[in-house]
Amino acid sequence: MQIELDRFLGKCSCGHTHSISVEGIYIEPNACRYLGELLQSYKHPVFICDSKTKKASEEALNKYFKENEVVELSGEGIHADNQNVARLSERLNDEADIFIAVGSGTIHDLTRYVAFQKGIPFISMPTAASVDGFVSTVAAMTWNGLKKTFPAKAPIFVLADTNIFSKAPYRLTASGISDLMGKYTALTDWKISHMITGEYFCSRIYDLEIEAVREVESILGEIKSGNEECMEKLMYALLLSGLAMQMIGNSRPASGAEHHISHLWEMSVINEPIDALHGEKVSVGLIMCLEKYGQILKAIESGKCKIIDNAEFETALLKESFGKKGLYEGILEENGDNLLKSINLSRLKNQLPAIAAELRKLPGSDEMEEKLNRTDCITSMQELNLPDIKELTLTLSPYVRRRLTLMRISKLFSI
Ligand SMILES: [Zn+2]
Ligand SMILES: [Zn+2]
Repeated sequence: MQIELDRFLGKCSCGHTHSISVEGIYIEPNACRYLGELLQSYKHPVFICDSKTKKASEEALNKYFKENEVVELSGEGIHADNQNVARLSERLNDEADIFIAVGSGTIHDLTRYVAFQKGIPFISMPTAASVDGFVSTVAAMTWNGLKKTFPAKAPIFVLADTNIFSKAPYRLTASGISDLMGKYTALTDWKISHMITGEYFCSRIYDLEIEAVREVESILGEIKSGNEECMEKLMYALLLSGLAMQMIGNSRPASGAEHHISHLWEMSVINEPIDALHGEKVSVGLIMCLEKYGQILKAIESGKCKIIDNAEFETALLKESFGKKGLYEGILEENGDNLLKSINLSRLKNQLPAIAAELRKLPGSDEMEEKLNRTDCITSMQELNLPDIKELTLTLSPYVRRRLTLMRISKLFSI
């Protein structure tokens, strides 16, 4: 199927005129057949892949690999970092006028970064439905050990070939499912922040995404059993999440408290480094958020949720935790002026019933945990080899990004 992109463009009731940079998205068996036509106007296409993704796409792309230059990054555990950018750059000649990223998140991050540096376009060919970042306009990279986001190119076309991505190792698909389910709390955080502070919000994007997330949630069993049509629906929902980010120019609709938890663990501030896929960390973050949000809902419904004047940064704790890694200044800089101070406490009190109404729309943590378990997704800190740092994680994670979430707002609650 070709995704009808017109429905994402133009003047919107949110006041914005939405635009996207991707020109076409195809999700279907043999989607690689469009490559020939798309590459016609280019003189020197270069395919970028790693050993695994090259193998996974060999059957479908054999002809193209033979006729064009292919840069294959070899070795285990390739990350989106400055070493691999250097490795990739030294193998690219100056004649390249378009890249084709054949891979999952890492290959895409490396390609979009290099494409931006060289000022040339790229085509995305996802080899797994593993993340929502294929159409991202930024590259998430590790630069000299620090996590950074760089401006980068979005693909001009996405050719998601079902014959390729539906055969990906299931662990990658499960990670994609989890990243997508994380939109539940991300979208709720966005809507609640809008209600409390008047932050910009687009109900069209919210509705589009929620609908796609619910659809995937209803076919998890079929995805697990490898049903191709259902795998395409997962890929569609992930790409839609990426388009939502393009439409408003940042990751607000795709990343909330559940992603902050994942980012905190990636910083190894209160834990040893963990080796897990993006969606696996988000998965556990999601369950923790849903549990906490469920407790908040209960407290509001029973009249026990009180508003307290507690907007100050938890300076001592931040110093002790982030400071140990030399990240205290960076965290203060990221947070800028304190988001909680922009909240009017009496308005917050009046909004409690409306917050409760939003929370009632969320799945319960037990229900989501059970669904994800049944789908072989990761759901517990133990599976990530993390010790029991749940409370500290909930307290510190809202500080990793300057973005209001209910987790952050809940510092103003006594429940
Ligand atoms: Zn809008
Ligand atoms: Zn994500």
